[in-house]
Amino acid sequence: MSYLVLARKWRPKTFADVVGQEHVLRALANALESDRVHHAYLFAGTRGVGKTTIARILAKALNCEAGVSAEPCGRCDSCTAIDEGRFVDLIEVDAASRTKVDDTRELLENVQYTPAAGRYKVYLIDEVHMLSRSSFNAFLKTLEEPPAHVKFLLATTDPQKLPVTVLSRCLQFNLKRLPVALIEQRMQQICAAEGIDAEPGALARLARAADGSVRDALSLLDQALAFGGGGLRDADVASLLGTLDRGQVLGLLDAVAAGDANVLLERIAALDEDVPDYERVLDDLATLLQRVAVAQLAGAEAVAGEDGGEILQSLAGRLQPAQVQLYYQVAITSRRDLSLAPEPRLGFEMALLRMLAFRPAPDDAMPKAGAPRRLSQAAARRQQSPPATTASPAAPGGSAAGVADWPALVTDLGLSGALRTLADNCELVEATDEQLHLRLARRNAHLATRRLKERLTERLRERFGAGVKVRLELVEEAGETVADRAARAERERERQMREQLGNDPEVRELVDSFDAELAQESIRPIDAGRGPASD
Ligand SMILES: [Zn+2]
Repeated sequence: MSYLVLARKWRPKTFADVVGQEHVLRALANALESDRVHHAYLFAGTRGVGKTTIARILAKALNCEAGVSAEPCGRCDSCTAIDEGRFVDLIEVDAASRTKVDDTRELLENVQYTPAAGRYKVYLIDEVHMLSRSSFNAFLKTLEEPPAHVKFLLATTDPQKLPVTVLSRCLQFNLKRLPVALIEQRMQQICAAEGIDAEPGALARLARAADGSVRDALSLLDQALAFGGGGLRDADVASLLGTLDRGQVLGLLDAVAAGDANVLLERIAALDEDVPDYERVLDDLATLLQRVAVAQLAGAEAVAGEDGGEILQSLAGRLQPAQVQLYYQVAITSRRDLSLAPEPRLGFEMALLRMLAFRPAPDDAMPKAGAPRRLSQAAARRQQSPPATTASPAAPGGSAAGVADWPALVTDLGLSGALRTLADNCELVEATDEQLHLRLARRNAHLATRRLKERLTERLRERFGAGVKVRLELVEEAGETVADRAARAERERERQMREQLGNDPEVRELVDSFDAELAQESIRPIDAGRGPASD
């Protein structure tokens, strides 16, 4: 006996065998059980989702010798004849090959005659949208007043191409693409029944590649079995499909998350040795990013059992949700534009480098070596503080009474860290030989810890002598301090940069092609020395 391809061998013979499409099956079963079957049905949906399969089962349900029901017997002459494709009253037409009006006329000539063997004459017209306009017109007359013994079952991948006059005379069912899990489950059943030893990863990979179609999944399964000599190993399936090991793709994301361009390029080079189908790799990348997003929103458990679950969880912790969304967008737009790239590999590499380039301000994520880095606020302030006057504000050992320029003194003292922040937020009220009187706004009181106050006093005494006292007064509102001035300058710079970026033609193009928005709050000067404010 010749080998029967799995898709045909396992084609569902009853409504109960059909995977998914419950909404359609229930409606049909109700119609059959209550004897209210419409005279024309339109099954719409992408390829391989079960349009003609369901139509054939419906033809069987209408013609089963045991009576019209949602559960045809499958054993009578009518049922077996339909299963074997030799039932005289089921007329199957592929509209794609018979588009001419004469074909349609010829087909419809026999509509008036009663069925030869069954209860109903069933016309199953596949890809019905391919009929010509005049064919539709010829067809319409019959569709308007069909004989009681005729049922039309139309199938199409493109219902929008059907004339409204035809659509309005049909009961339309939209068949859905099947979820990956359902396809995988179906393949597991079939493998178990066929005694095929399949690695779970291999089936999951095939199910994803099938793009919502059980038929495609089973065709791929056939190919994979031929390729693997009867067994089904994940690695074989991966190379058959031109997809990669999930770990390899996760490795790329891992390098992107770490902001490590060198490792990323190394991994791309290693991956290129397998000559992968880059479109599929971008698909895989998008799929993984979707899983990361799920882990971020639904919790790590949501991806716990998956292949590479631990890395997914780690990525969920290391990437920000907005980053994941952006990377996903980059993956799918790059996939779309891959054919425009000089070479697929270059297009792929650009996609990953683009992900690397679009990273949030490191302030909000973990700063990574080599990533664009914003100067710490303290450092920025230091750079923006007015330069010390040429005359030293107070020479070592000089008198505290001579201090007039507090910011210059702070710079001159070389304070850093938290101590510097405290000093920058203070305002000098009065300086005498005995005492330096400073003010600090109450909202900044947290800066003045006891330890920092002691250290500030210590540093000032080193300069002006052990006798000098430091009085730090908390007030509701201090005058403009160094910190305030720096913050104001920085705000102004940020405003200018946003304006500049918003008008930048390259940025505009990015915004347009990715349907993006500039995250205003993420725009920050990365180098205080080169910002527009210092031009
Ligand atoms: Zn039957």
